[in-house]
Amino acid sequence: MPRKAPVDDFDDSGLEVSKPKTWAAGVPGVATALRHSWEQMGARRSALTLLRVNQKQGFDCPGCAWPEGEHRHVAEFCENGAKAVAEEATARRVTREFFARHTVAELAERSDHWLGQQGRLTEPMLRRAGCDHYEPVSWEEAFALLARELNALSSPDEAVFYTSGRTSNEAAFAYQLFARAFGTNNLPDCSNMCHESSGSALTETIGVGKGSVLLEDLYRADLIFVVGQNPGTNHPRMLSALEKAKKAGARIVAVNPLPEAGLMRFRNPQRPSGVAGRGTALADRFLQIRLNGDLALFQALNRMLLESDAPNALDREFIAAHTTGFDEFAAHVKALDWDDVLEATGLTRAEITAVLGDVLTADRIVVCWAMGLTQHRNSVPTIREIVNFLLLRGNIGKPGAGVCPVRGHSNVQGDRTMGIYEKPKPEFLDALAAEFSFEPPRRHGLDTVNAIRAMRDGKVKVFFGMGGNFVRATPDSAVTEAAMRNCRLTAHVSTKLNRSHAVTGEQALILPTLGRTERDVQASGPQLVSVEDSMGMVHASQGRLAPASPHLLSEVSIVCRLARAVLGEETGIDWAAMERDYDVIRDHVSRVVPGFEDYNARIRRPGGFTLPHPPRDGRRFPTPSGRAALTVNELEVLRVPEGRLLLQTVRSHDQYNTTVYGLDDRYRGIRAGRRVVFVNPADLDALGLADGDTVDLVSEWSDGVERRAPAFRIVAYPTARGCAAAYFPETNVLVPLDSTAEVSNTPTSKSIVVRLERR
Ligand code: SF4
Repeated sequence: MPRKAPVDDFDDSGLEVSKPKTWAAGVPGVATALRHSWEQMGARRSALTLLRVNQKQGFDCPGCAWPEGEHRHVAEFCENGAKAVAEEATARRVTREFFARHTVAELAERSDHWLGQQGRLTEPMLRRAGCDHYEPVSWEEAFALLARELNALSSPDEAVFYTSGRTSNEAAFAYQLFARAFGTNNLPDCSNMCHESSGSALTETIGVGKGSVLLEDLYRADLIFVVGQNPGTNHPRMLSALEKAKKAGARIVAVNPLPEAGLMRFRNPQRPSGVAGRGTALADRFLQIRLNGDLALFQALNRMLLESDAPNALDREFIAAHTTGFDEFAAHVKALDWDDVLEATGLTRAEITAVLGDVLTADRIVVCWAMGLTQHRNSVPTIREIVNFLLLRGNIGKPGAGVCPVRGHSNVQGDRTMGIYEKPKPEFLDALAAEFSFEPPRRHGLDTVNAIRAMRDGKVKVFFGMGGNFVRATPDSAVTEAAMRNCRLTAHVSTKLNRSHAVTGEQALILPTLGRTERDVQASGPQLVSVEDSMGMVHASQGRLAPASPHLLSEVSIVCRLARAVLGEETGIDWAAMERDYDVIRDHVSRVVPGFEDYNARIRRPGGFTLPHPPRDGRRFPTPSGRAALTVNELEVLRVPEGRLLLQTVRSHDQYNTTVYGLDDRYRGIRAGRRVVFVNPADLDALGLADGDTVDLVSEWSDGVERRAPAFRIVAYPTARGCAAAYFPETNVLVPLDSTAEVSNTPTSKSIVVRLERR
């Protein structure tokens, strides 16, 4: 059966294509940030809001999870942070009249961009069974409906409780507590689709599933690898950190199939040289690797290190004192076939040997990565091999060195720390049981992919989403949408309208919530919340704007009232106290989650506090052996059949995860359109296609199902040979639900075999 993506409502006929840029940010970055802010918020509100982003007494940017340094600028945000804030603090509103004008079926025909541009949700809405309109509903009625449906399930495991990465620590802790008190570990989250592979690989090898570097380590590093990551769009203030690292003497090796502008040169708009001059060259070396070639690259480097005569090639003392598995690892890597390496990477042996030269002259090395590494079938082995690379030279647990998985959404790491996890550790459940005097479920729950399967198969009947846009964030769009429609009730806690509100179960609820920029006042007074950034720093966030509507509830309020409605008042958990004063939640956290002792006092210190990380802090590895594990990772070259390409899904510069702010991708030379596919000119020649042709993208997978994303304009682009790129969520339809990474079960959105069919 063919599966097609929904067609967008915007007109792509104005699409313009120009040469890709070779530098990022500068004056155009500032101008675009201001234009978005003024359009959405007006000049005065823009100034008031933007000056509080990421400040010590302000609110945390709702964009990515990049950390702030100790010394903050007046403007401590990037272009895409400004866009994220503008979207949330917009003056536009979605009212009950809006829902009266538009049927759900009409909304399902609209693009992500159009839906997002309608503004903030203002009151709870209910789509009753059999109705094609949402209608207003009171909060009491909404909670009563949820209680009826949840309590009517034959097992708590027939519900799933999804979380996106914006949810605060306080809301996340209360939410997982509710799900477990209800009786399930079905707590899938967006991490399942992004850095699950990093968490899996790091937990296995160094005992902690998080990065081991702080911002200062980047400034002390001799060599920084930036692998499978596009910081110019996805973590823009990382460019300032890389600039500072360069000025302190670091070399940068960028590894990517695409020559992204933000990897090449940065014009820092906070410096005169960035405004009027040429800025700072970032990558000293650019390796244009093929998609899925990273395991081969690092394995080749590891083999060369083992074979090197250089006296400093290996840190033998560190290996002997802190690692296990060296002999098996070394025997495996020495048998590596160079032909496989060159085929998998698309690089020459000379290019890889040159990198070895960089490595041997560097004492302190950091490896950063993002989705380019985590969304392949072999992502976990790839990251394990990067850990091998760092361990060989003692580059974990010393200043200026370590692993740096860069997280995408502002509190995705904190949510996991707070217990949003379908496979909780027994110690965490023991601590919950002791703190709240109940027995949490021990059986593992559903991750995102398994939750979709369960909804599809009728095994899950209630879907509850804490933030996010589930149907657009997930793979195999047609399957996911059918799965959502198969539920008895779908409910979303949201600030803005999105497609998940238009693809609903038999009944559907929209539960509108406060944003980060807004005041959160409860019975005990104004509240603050807290978040954890990509480097394990926890800090406070407090909005000051008046809420978008008087009918909004905070995420914490929604969870606490939901819990009381569903569980009754006899659970022994004082939900009302938690809602009244978030300090009560933080006191609970301080007794349940290691590293959060004295949470309430420490969160009020300017800048917050740093969570412990034993490998970083003292070369202590909480693995079963007490040592870091060198691992054996099989290299399987991903061979693409003749006439096919390997496609990766990417974001445009006017996009943050599933939120589409605009239709431009400035750095890649795209204006006013999104249905483009970037292909190497030599591949176009070989395929008999040309720049400007319109094609369908058709993915091929072993289940024999044809997945088709129609009508993409080909853009001849200097991507690696054999590798194409196109934007998600439009191309999520091409990612088969069953095509997931080993161990982490993350969808393989960075390596999809496709053919291009001319229309
Ligand atoms: S780098 Fe990330 S967290 Fe910082 S302002 Fe930009 S989007 Fe926000």
